[in-house]
Amino acid sequence: SIVVTGATGHLGRHVVTQLLEKVPAEQITAVVRDEAKAADFAAAGVKIAVADYNAPETFDGLFAAGDKVLLISGNEFDKGRPAQHKVVIDAAKAAGVALLAYTSAPGSLHASLADDHRATEEVLLASGLPYALLRNGWYHENYTENLAPVLAHDAVVTAAGEGRVSSASRADYAAAAVAVLTGEGHENQTYELGGDVAWSFAEYAAELTKQTGKEIAYNSVPGEVLQGILTGAGLPEPFAAILVDVDASIAKGELVVDSGDLSRLAGRPTSPISEAITAALK
Ligand code: NDP
Repeated sequence: SIVVTGATGHLGRHVVTQLLEKVPAEQITAVVRDEAKAADFAAAGVKIAVADYNAPETFDGLFAAGDKVLLISGNEFDKGRPAQHKVVIDAAKAAGVALLAYTSAPGSLHASLADDHRATEEVLLASGLPYALLRNGWYHENYTENLAPVLAHDAVVTAAGEGRVSSASRADYAAAAVAVLTGEGHENQTYELGGDVAWSFAEYAAELTKQTGKEIAYNSVPGEVLQGILTGAGLPEPFAAILVDVDASIAKGELVVDSGDLSRLAGRPTSPISEAITAALK
């Protein structure tokens, strides 16, 4: 079987949907916390397994020898994600799966956000399992799903200066994961995944101006100023600090990934951010 954890998340939904175009539904298992959220997958014939990274026993017997597993990293920042991910890796190891692919962060990214991913990669490599590291770069949607404040103030505000980001859509990263799960020869490979085009926030603001017909400015501010803006808008202090830290990394070029691995695995060019903007403005 092909087993996907985090299947009811944003990325997981794209992965399962794209898998259904390539392999029979009964060969796919979606691992979910809440079965009700996976009703559409079940109706399509996908097998559903209920498990939680916080409850190791829920993974007992979930995997079978020879399975190919996609471990989608969790989003519970305060619960110790490396230990959560180890639960899945240990169960996969006990079962003797053929491949464990993990959605990591680019090797070039040194922001604190990447720490959990580096720690999980270490656990995975130490397990001795055949692995594939899908070092996902930034999603277009990190920006395009948060346009409300931009449109309210007619400004894109970051602390990223002239830094560029080679983002891609979640659907693009899902295509790479599907290629690894359904293809051959991906054992013990590390893929640095990013979009084909690295754009700057000035270019992003210009594209927003073009598509909205409103003049949208780009303001780069010092990190402390952005921290104040974000907490002032109601973001919890630690989360704001993570975002400011990411912008500092962007300013240093750490979210430019130019390996070409993503379009190579997907077998097509990545989608441009202009498309994600169009979709978000609809
Ligand atoms: P989502 O937040 O939409 O999905 C996270 C998934 O993890 C959900 O399916 C969620 O389950 C599952 N999950 C969280 N905690 C547990 C747990 N304790 N046990 C079992 N499952 C759990 O994120 P995306 O799909 O957009 O992205 C996937 C991952 O990529 C994120 O979790 C994060 O690690 C990382 N990420 C990457 C970004 C990038 O730009 N590359 C940006 C943001 C995040 P449920 O559906 O039940 O909630």
